[in-house]
Amino acid sequence: MQNKFEKRINGFYIDPQIFTAKFVKSCDTCICSGECCYYGVYTDKKEYEKIISVKDRILKSMDDSQIKDPSKWFEQPEVDPDFESGIAVGTEVYNGKCVFLDKQGFCTLQKMAIEDGEFKWKYKPLYCILFPLVIFEGALTIDDEHINRMHYCNLMQNQTVTIFEHSKEEIRFLLGEKGFEELLQYKEDYLNSIKEEKIAIEK
Ligand code: SF4
Ligand code: SF4
Repeated sequence: MQNKFEKRINGFYIDPQIFTAKFVKSCDTCICSGECCYYGVYTDKKEYEKIISVKDRILKSMDDSQIKDPSKWFEQPEVDPDFESGIAVGTEVYNGKCVFLDKQGFCTLQKMAIEDGEFKWKYKPLYCILFPLVIFEGALTIDDEHINRMHYCNLMQNQTVTIFEHSKEEIRFLLGEKGFEELLQYKEDYLNSIKEEKIAIEK
């Protein structure tokens, strides 16, 4: 597929706006209540299968604001080429939030991994890990549409770092160490090129 972005790392095109667009320094669910999880998320079919395989464990970490019937946790699968398996399965919304969001604003999938001493993102869907970034048409880019719905991290006065700075750990997770090093080099080259363009315009 033809893509408008020139740089590609580990199969993902890179939208250079991730180096300049602003966001909050870090997430604080005490302030935002995990608002980005109010709409549910699309998981890859493989992620869906992994989550369902540990449904009994998930149930133990859910609270009384969450639905305990696993058959009500997911929507019907649908074809989507932005997912590794080519199939996306959305999580359902219950009580005005993703079925996996607890009443304190924590993701049960992440909470339970931490409780069990596992890697924190073992069960967490990739698109949840990446937000405010998203993979759209093969490119790692900014999820403007979803950011625009937010009432805390979307406010300019709260946006003090770049999305890249905010999401370093998540990007490293996606691209791997080598891919992340390549991204750092691309970031430097890109920022230098826009600086040079600006100087040329001002002359
Ligand atoms: S992305 Fe925004 S809404 Fe989601 S946890 Fe972070 S600050 Fe809260
Ligand atoms: S799976 Fe977890 S992180 Fe993703 S939307 Fe649901 S509660 Fe939020």
